[in-house]
Formats: sequence, structure tokens, C-alpha cells
Amino acid sequence: MDQKAQEIIADLKAYLEYLKGMGIEALPTGEEKVEKMIPSEAPSLEDIRKELGDCKRCKLHRTRTTIVFGEGNKKAKLMLIGEGPGYDEDVQGRPFVGKAGQLLTKIIQSIHFEREEVYIANIIKCRPPQNRNPEPDEIGSCSPFLMKQIQAIQPKIICALGTFAAQTLLQTDAKITSLRGRTFDLLGIKVLPTYHPAFLLRNPDKKREVWEDMKQIAEWLAKEEKKAQSIDNPRR
Ligand code: URA
Repeated sequence: MDQKAQEIIADLKAYLEYLKGMGIEALPTGEEKVEKMIPSEAPSLEDIRKELGDCKRCKLHRTRTTIVFGEGNKKAKLMLIGEGPGYDEDVQGRPFVGKAGQLLTKIIQSIHFEREEVYIANIIKCRPPQNRNPEPDEIGSCSPFLMKQIQAIQPKIICALGTFAAQTLLQTDAKITSLRGRTFDLLGIKVLPTYHPAFLLRNPDKKREVWEDMKQIAEWLAKEEKKAQSIDNPRR
């Protein structure tokens, strides 16, 4: 088999793993709606954690200290998704608790949310050695659990933090510079990518753009809240 064919097969395999992770077990023929292929019964976060167990589904279990499942409000309207645990997260078993995490907490507070009000997770739940990028087989094993968490929480909007989270959630190779600040749809949930807080630590001049993105999220959530209130209390 030539190299091009091997690359196509590898890409197709990664895409099928991704679809499986989304709970999609059959390929769309173009006639059915995607929503119909997603299991409608959302498991609880506790059930998902139990199912994950002492996960050994990929090679990262050999080098991790702790599984970083994710944390926050089970009914969060805003979910923030990063790449994967780093050193501090691996030690503490909590997402975004290192330097980048402290900045993320400030970013969340800048739009008048507390950390406890949102839900924070990562594309993968175990730290890759030397913080390298997660590999396709690791994402394939782990993403079904993240997708179930999204189903369980049903956030109104997901903020994808950085290139890796944005490209994985949106299944694109597009650069973060072209994705950030724009909204996309993931199975009926809005996704807005922005820069990763670790990138901001190295490039503080990019904070303004993240601020714009966060403002957009806050304004959109406020509008949705208003809409929901007017449905609950229609004017006579
Ligand atoms: N970077 C991430 O992407 N996630 C974390 O949890 C910590 C740092």
C-alpha cells in the first residue's frame, strides 16, 4: 500500500474513533439527522466516573499519577475544555490548577462567574509524558468519556481552550487564530474557541482577544437567560 493510502486510512480511522466518542455508532447516510444517532439517555457524571474506573484503556495510564476527570457545576451553562493535565493537575487530580489554571480562574471571574459555577475538563484525562500532544489512540479511548460528560451537563456553550481542544472538538486542522472568537455547533451546543491560558502566559498581548471572546460568551449567555425568562413569564 502506498503512503498516501495509508494516510487516508489513518485519517479515516481517527475520524471513526471520534464519531464513536460522540456516541455515533453508524455512519450518516445523509438522510438521518445527527441528533437521532446520539443516545438520548444521558448518564450522570457519577455513572461516567464509575464507568471510567481505574482506566487503563490507553498507554497514558502507565505514566500518570492521577486521572483528572473534570470538576465544577453539574448543571453548568458554561463548560471550558482544555488539552490535558499538566504536572500540577496530574499530582492533584484536578483540572487547571497550575499557573495556567490560576490565569483561567481569573478569566472566568472576569465575566463574573465563579470557578464553581462552570465545568472544567480536558480532551484527555491523563497527563502525557513531558506534556507532549495527545496521540490519536489516546483521544480515541478518552473522548467517549468527555462526550458523555458534555451530554450529562448539557452546557449552553463550550469554550475550547487552545488549538488542540478547538481542533479536536471541531474536527478541523484550521489554526486557532482563524477559529478564535467564532462560534460553531457541536451537536446543538455552541462552541467558541479562544487562546489557551498557557499561551497567554507566554503572549500577554493576546489577553485582549481572549477578553473579547469571553465578553461574547457572557453576552450570549445573558441573552439566552433573558429569552428563557420571557418564556417562563410571558407578558399578558
Ligand atoms: N492545560 C490544560 O490544557 N489542561 C489543564 O488541566 C492544565 C493545563
